Amino acid sequence: MKDYYGILGVDRDANADEIKKAFRRLARETHPDANPGDADAEERFRQVAEAYEVLSDPQKKSRFDRGESFGGQDLFSQFGGLEDILQQFFGGGFGGGFGNAARGPERGRDVAVRLDLDLAQAAFGTEKDVTFMSRIECPTCDSSGSEPGHSPITCSKCDGHGRVQVARQTLLGTMMTVAECSDCSGTGQLIDHPCAECHGEGRIRGERELTVEVPEGVDTGTRLRLNQKGGAGQRGVSAGDVYVEIRVRPDERFQRVGDDLHHRVAIGFAEATFGTDVEVPLLEGGTEHLEVPAGTQPETVYRIGKRGIPRLQRRGRGDLLVHVEVRVPTDLDEVAEDALRSYADIRGERPAEKKRGLFRR
Ligand SMILES: [Zn+2]
Ligand SMILES: [Zn+2]
Repeated sequence: MKDYYGILGVDRDANADEIKKAFRRLARETHPDANPGDADAEERFRQVAEAYEVLSDPQKKSRFDRGESFGGQDLFSQFGGLEDILQQFFGGGFGGGFGNAARGPERGRDVAVRLDLDLAQAAFGTEKDVTFMSRIECPTCDSSGSEPGHSPITCSKCDGHGRVQVARQTLLGTMMTVAECSDCSGTGQLIDHPCAECHGEGRIRGERELTVEVPEGVDTGTRLRLNQKGGAGQRGVSAGDVYVEIRVRPDERFQRVGDDLHHRVAIGFAEATFGTDVEVPLLEGGTEHLEVPAGTQPETVYRIGKRGIPRLQRRGRGDLLVHVEVRVPTDLDEVAEDALRSYADIRGERPAEKKRGLFRR
């Protein structure tokens, strides 16, 4: 169970005045507006507010003293959340509530782009141009938002800071809080002559063209992030990011499994029997010589090391696995058929009698 007395740093027999005093001191110390962006302070403040909420209420205090515990949710639900408690104690109109700094100009949007590659491009990396519609920098005002020849003026209300200190009268006395400047919406600047093309936005709709550097080893589903290459931000602030979604087109010769490539090669019945040489194509171009020994059985797999896909962001390469298929002839002419039937006789095989020339078209 939480020790609300400990959180407020008061004795168990502290009176209402002492509890209020302790809370006032701790609340000022840990208040989110006094510690912008500090999550620890925010959590401490919640604890302090919760402790005060219980100990300042005679009924809850006596329930707590009898050993009942209160869930934070139960406590705050009757106020509609912590924001409402803050309103009670400190008055309304915080600078956007917890953790919200002044907004300033709006950052650009993130954009997703799909990029189709063939297998070799995905394996060995490439450069590709992509185009997409997006917000782009306004060329007329060079993103400033001001008509050429004019500049934004510094907001006089906030002196260009975008935030203003506001004194609030609260239950705890006067408290200084920080709020977004209402005149400039937190940007710190005012545009008195807005650019006619972008209406002061500093950005327009248009087509963006980017060159994407694709690293080696990408695969379908790989997502590349290009920082700040996406939609333009308002008045020149940072652009959004571009997420490039890779899709690799199927390849006729190679099937990719992880970083390995699989290739099928078909040899004849006689070749499997006596052995043969095959030229295996390589993804990077050229071929690799593969010796198929005599007596090779169908579906034998040979592994050619380090001729697969280079590993993404790691060293090394996968392997090339060559599956050897043994072709059964379906197109024997008369001479070949005679030869094969003689072979069957010698081996004691009993092939079905077929009409001569069955295979011939
Ligand atoms: Zn413009
Ligand atoms: Zn301002």
